[in-house]
Amino acid sequence: MKIMLTNTLGRKKSIFKPINKGKVGMYVCGPTVYQRASIGNFRAFVFADLLRRMFEFNGLEVNEVMNITDVGHLTDDASEGEDKIEKQAKKENKDAWEISKMHTHQFLDDMKELGIEPPSELPKATDYILEQIALIAALEENGFTYQISDGIYFDTSKLSDYGKLSGQKLDEKEEGARVEKNKEKKNASDFALWKFSKTEEKRQMEWQSPWGIGFPGWHIECSAMSEKYLGTPFDIHTGGEDHITVHHPNEMAQTQAARGHELANWWLHNAFLMVDGGKMSKSLGNTYSIDDLKEKGFSPLDFRYFLLGAHYRTKQNFTWEALESAHNALNNLKDELWSLGSPAKIDKKILKSFNERINDDLDIAGALAILWETVRNQELDSGIKLATVFEMDKVFGLDLAGTLSIVIPDEVENLLELRRKAREEKDYAGSDALRDQIAELGFVVKDTGDGQKLTPKR
Ligand code: AMP
Ligand code: ZN
Repeated sequence: MKIMLTNTLGRKKSIFKPINKGKVGMYVCGPTVYQRASIGNFRAFVFADLLRRMFEFNGLEVNEVMNITDVGHLTDDASEGEDKIEKQAKKENKDAWEISKMHTHQFLDDMKELGIEPPSELPKATDYILEQIALIAALEENGFTYQISDGIYFDTSKLSDYGKLSGQKLDEKEEGARVEKNKEKKNASDFALWKFSKTEEKRQMEWQSPWGIGFPGWHIECSAMSEKYLGTPFDIHTGGEDHITVHHPNEMAQTQAARGHELANWWLHNAFLMVDGGKMSKSLGNTYSIDDLKEKGFSPLDFRYFLLGAHYRTKQNFTWEALESAHNALNNLKDELWSLGSPAKIDKKILKSFNERINDDLDIAGALAILWETVRNQELDSGIKLATVFEMDKVFGLDLAGTLSIVIPDEVENLLELRRKAREEKDYAGSDALRDQIAELGFVVKDTGDGQKLTPKR
């Protein structure tokens, strides 16, 4: 079945064809590990996970590489400001290596809880300094670099199609207003490949290089590490939409200038997650983490379910009410599935329409609607229903099969039978007491037209 995707490069939806038949090489711009990743960051990583699972559902073998940025990402995202990790280390009076290690572990734990499949490779920038230096040397050899007082820079005017990803022309690109312009740069869009350590201040993370002691610019790590693990060009590069204007054009430019060909064939970007209709920001105190959700009684998978509701290319608005609805919907789904018994054969026709949805530019919300239609389909045998939904969950990643692991203990079955008799005898006080006893054992009993209905307490 054909897979359609929207390439930011060219802004067109077209048929995806991998470079090597049956295989997909995918690079995901990973986290900068100076603080706990926000739920906004996780929109980007759940998107990449869904994309990967979609390919796998189609029988393609995915080699997914995600970088860990532990050096060089400056506070203004371009080439000015402070290194985010060194800055945080100073603030907390800690070691920069310790900071990045701690947040990497935290990130991996959060990923797991969100049902994100571990990438095949998770290279961190500080482990590939030599590769980055070699790439800068290749750029120097090809005449794309120049040196100014604070580092080695890439001359974007030397690449005729620089900025093609965002569609911005060179002179339209203004440097961040918050940061003082670097007057020595030849063009506003030029960016640092290697930054020199300041003489007056010793950095915790710095290395020798042919140009002097310093550290790599943020963009070079992605060009170097993706090439190392995937070769260039590879199939797909992903990231949040903020990368369309600076980080990704720069990654692209480096590889094009050094190697004479593209870094990746497809560039896919997720739109941002907003909070209460606005931007997430530290000053508003709304850069929530997975722990903030858990503190309010939500599970990470409630948040994953919430994310499934919006197309990756449209902005999504996070509110606590929306998360509450996702939480309720997911619990209802689990309850429905739990009451269906055990899985039987898959319904191929339903699964085909599901497959069509996910292959249509990753229409996960459309696929979720098919899941609900399947669950509510009165004509379908419950075993088939269950098996088909479990198959879909290979993409959704909600651990729906886990719901079946809850078995009704004999004690609860006995209490349920006693309660049935109590109700028959119109002993409502007795029936209520039994309901409480059942609740203490972790189950909720409801009275329906078909008699008592039991569900696990969630
Ligand atoms: P960073 O840790 O800043 O390097 O960002 C990690 C990923 O999260 C990048 O792909 C960003 O584009 C993405 N990202 C950051 N904020 C948001 C947001 N609010 N919504 C969606 N993606 C985001
Ligand atoms: Zn990157």
